[in-house]
Amino acid sequence: MIKIIKNKKIAILGSSPVMIILFYLLKLKNEVVLFEENKILGGAWKLQKYKNSFINLHSNVVLPGSNKEYTRQKEINTLLKKKIGIKIKRSKKKIFALYKPQKYFEYDFNRIYQKILKNSHYIVKDKIRKITLLENNKIKVNKDKVFDIVFFPSYFGINHFYNKKKKINIDFKLIESLHLSVITNNINQKLIYSDFYNNYFDRIDIHKHKNFFHITARISKQLKTLKLKKIKEKFIESFPKIVIKKLFINRYKNYYRDQHQLNDLKTKLNKNKIIYINTTSFIAGICQLINLLRKY
Ligand SMILES: Cc1cc2nc3c(=O)[nH]c(=O)nc-3n(C[C@H](O)[C@H](O)[C@H](O)COP(=O)(O)OP(=O)(O)OC[C@H]3O[C@@H](n4cnc5c(N)ncnc54)[C@H](O)[C@@H]3O)c2cc1C
Repeated sequence: MIKIIKNKKIAILGSSPVMIILFYLLKLKNEVVLFEENKILGGAWKLQKYKNSFINLHSNVVLPGSNKEYTRQKEINTLLKKKIGIKIKRSKKKIFALYKPQKYFEYDFNRIYQKILKNSHYIVKDKIRKITLLENNKIKVNKDKVFDIVFFPSYFGINHFYNKKKKINIDFKLIESLHLSVITNNINQKLIYSDFYNNYFDRIDIHKHKNFFHITARISKQLKTLKLKKIKEKFIESFPKIVIKKLFINRYKNYYRDQHQLNDLKTKLNKNKIIYINTTSFIAGICQLINLLRKY
């Protein structure tokens, strides 16, 4: 399946899981670096160390949205296990989402983050401010780094690039989502993931770690401006059975592009040189990688 692009200098933008997986698929036969401005890898899927575990701050799940995606998910699982070494297990959680596949899976990305960090020369910890497609068809990133190919995900934070001397706008909108994390020692209910919960919280995930449980929830717009104490009250109202040991809020800044902006981005990026990767969902992204690498 993976004949792959060979002997190229490649830049991968950002460190969301799809982009890290692309890094691993290309790295054996190419010189690849990954640009990331944040000191923690993972983008919207970044993990935080708590006690001896890594906790998922943003209720991240890999869920197919249709029969077609569910069928592809099996192919994806084989690729991720065999080629990348990602641990995947069947989920025992009760899942509340619109599409209901036969089986749900949980993915452990932490190992690939740790592995890449051990080879830190692959990571350029720098904010990308300028991308230029040069006369000789190479791509210059910032002032001095030159590549044959650049891979560009959906929500990357740069709002223009240059095609030779012509400036091309690729707008985004900076949005911030708020996520609640609650640690508890015991839980009196089934482990769940729910896309929708109530007017205060959605994307609820209850996860069991070795010595504690971690509950994450995205905070609704109407609670966003409230003080932590008030948000805590709403949590207690929503989950009366849960005894809170620790509660904190995480913020995620996302360089969001709506569908119109994504279509625009896809059209404007050069198909062979600055390649757009659809990272709007994990499954969509990996499906595109499989299709893309098949072509080469
Ligand atoms: C909070 C949140 C949770 C999500 N959860 C899920 C989920 O559970 N399942 C799912 O399928 N989809 C989910 N999505 C949708 C989508 O899959 C993810 O957003 C995915 O990670 C998008 O990948 P991305 O690379 O486009 O953006 P991001 O994940 O935001 O990653 C972009 C990365 O690039 C870095 N970066 C940005 N600009 C620059 C720059 N100029 N220079 C250097 N570095 C830069 C950022 O620091 C970041 O690490 C979620 C989205 C959000 C916002």
